[in-house]
Amino acid sequence: MSRTVYVNGEYLPEAEAKISIFDRGFLMADGVYEVTSVLDGKLLDFAGHAKRLERSLGELDMALPIEMEDLLEVHRELVRLNDINEGMIYLQVTRGAPSDRDFAFPDPAETPSTIVLFTQNKPGLADTPVAKKGIKVISIEDIRWGRRDIKTIQLLYPSMGKMMAKKAGVDDAWMVEDGMVTEGTSNNAYIVKNGKIITRHLGTEILAGITRNAVLRFAEEAQMTVEERSFTIAEAQGADEAFVTSASTFVMPVVEIDGAQVGAGVPGPVAVRLREIYLEESRKAAI
Ligand code: PLP
Repeated sequence: MSRTVYVNGEYLPEAEAKISIFDRGFLMADGVYEVTSVLDGKLLDFAGHAKRLERSLGELDMALPIEMEDLLEVHRELVRLNDINEGMIYLQVTRGAPSDRDFAFPDPAETPSTIVLFTQNKPGLADTPVAKKGIKVISIEDIRWGRRDIKTIQLLYPSMGKMMAKKAGVDDAWMVEDGMVTEGTSNNAYIVKNGKIITRHLGTEILAGITRNAVLRFAEEAQMTVEERSFTIAEAQGADEAFVTSASTFVMPVVEIDGAQVGAGVPGPVAVRLREIYLEESRKAAI
């Protein structure tokens, strides 16, 4: 079924939505994005995604071409128009389409940012059977650029990582830099040892996941211990549990890393509990 999408102020059938070939998102990956999940037809943590979007844009001297409260309404209208009960809303802002290709940034007064939003319908997102089995990952070298805290649309290496995982017969890849795990290709990585949840500290090396923020808060509220530090693949393989978090997978158990079974090789109690708490609390707070 054809979706209704949003492009620069207009709601259009997806086949009629057009972007210039000079758009800097297309030519230079000069843009940022957000993915907000929808459960029960409502947005999960819109405020968190809005805040990170503003930060990403600010770091790149890019303007948001719409007021934030109007952006919330666009999200809601797309959910309504496309009848989304469970799924995601993808949002992308680029530095717009100047009259010609040039490395220098265009004058924002002459070249407004481009904004595009579309929905992704995913019935069964919250109750996916994958979460009951857990996923398998391999490790790969992290060769991305140095500002991974900005949610840019430069996703070539993460896409290559997913393909490397697929070729290895597993679900995803954890990236490793200087011997330490940074994050998954599109998620934050965690291990659990002796009841303690360990995940890499924030910095320019990883994206500050909106789900990470919520999950760590819920963990602490549930009296679980959280330690924010980096860890190796060997430590992860010897952990009791492992899991990843992202807006579209929530909390997803990891049961194998580079061929080694983690813990009992099935989703562990901490990951399972955190998934339950995350879904329950996020649903309650959804707007
Ligand atoms: N890390 C990377 C590299 C990501 O691409 C993502 C999500 O796309 C995340 C972490 C998780 O972020 P969030 O929880 O905000 O979806």
